[in-house]
Amino acid sequence: MDQLYKELKNFGKVKLKESLAKHTTFKIGGPAKYFVIVEDVAKLSELLKYLDAQGIPYVVIGGGSNMLVSDDGFDGVIIRIKGGGVKVKSDVIEAGAGCTTVQVAQESIKAGLTGFEWGVGVPGTIGGAVRGNAGAMGGDMNKVIEKVEVYQDGEVVEYSNEESSFKYRDSIFKHNGGIILRVWLKLEKGENRDLQKQAITNIQYRNQTQPHGHASSGCTFKNVEIREDSNFKIKIPQDFLEKGIISAGWLIDQCNIKGYTAGNAQVSEKHGNFIVNLGGATANDVLSIIDHVKGEVYNTFGINLQEEIQII
Ligand SMILES: Cc1cc2nc3c(=O)[nH]c(=O)nc-3n(C[C@H](O)[C@H](O)[C@H](O)COP(=O)(O)OP(=O)(O)OC[C@H]3O[C@@H](n4cnc5c(N)ncnc54)[C@H](O)[C@@H]3O)c2cc1C
Repeated sequence: MDQLYKELKNFGKVKLKESLAKHTTFKIGGPAKYFVIVEDVAKLSELLKYLDAQGIPYVVIGGGSNMLVSDDGFDGVIIRIKGGGVKVKSDVIEAGAGCTTVQVAQESIKAGLTGFEWGVGVPGTIGGAVRGNAGAMGGDMNKVIEKVEVYQDGEVVEYSNEESSFKYRDSIFKHNGGIILRVWLKLEKGENRDLQKQAITNIQYRNQTQPHGHASSGCTFKNVEIREDSNFKIKIPQDFLEKGIISAGWLIDQCNIKGYTAGNAQVSEKHGNFIVNLGGATANDVLSIIDHVKGEVYNTFGINLQEEIQII
């Protein structure tokens, strides 16, 4: 066995040539040369420090629910962050970055705290949710995060909510390479029965609107923010104008390309912004759909869609 394999074993469970299709909700992706599962927050920052010092390329993943991994896989170390524990202290929830968003939301409901009920339907980890400022049902991480502990350039530092620069599906960590280690959510006291009800309503709504039965990575494209200088080729419906954002799914619907297929990937017939894996799809199948959808939306509306999913 090589030296790196032996070193990695100090930080967690290591696998060689692990198929990344097994670790993404798309069920797509070639092998990782090294795949290490890290469950301890302190060990995670030590591992990151070690890899940085050695100049070894790595990518951190959580639930793999917002990514498309190349069919060639990754020629370095994939670090799968898992767990890290959830603690509730009064109206603050502390969670390791590898805890699932669902688990954190469920703990918040159990503790009679409100503000994060929408998290019960979002796949992946709370670390991944912070990085992409995940959101649903009118909520997002920006509205609940108090502070975040981050590994950056060999150090562990804290970012306040403000310093995290949350924007629509964006945060500073998408741009500065910060790896989220631990998060603190500040919520409010609520009525337990109402919270459970709200969580069930959220899940029912998702079940009605999102495709089931096929692997996917959720919404492929970001919704389109309307700026003062936006100049669209079409008349935008009033409700989008009022919200200041146009649904990417609506734009795709208008192009009549639901059901468009490339290889074994397809624009979902139920939700235009979902690409589904019909079984055995490759990353190239998905990329070719992404190209097609972007082209159709641009030709029809003059709008450049941007990917919400991370391409690795
Ligand atoms: C069926 C379905 C429904 C979805 N619904 C929603 C929804 O309603 N709202 C929504 O916002 N999203 C939704 N998503 C997308 C996805 O669930 C979220 O973006 C989620 O927060 C991603 O978390 P993850 O742990 O899976 O991230 P991953 O996919 O593992 O990683 C995404 C990116 O974040 C990076 N990353 C992961 N963990 C960390 C960390 N700790 N520190 C730094 N970088 C990190 C990765 O390198 C990668 O670039 C949905 C996805 C699916 C499949």
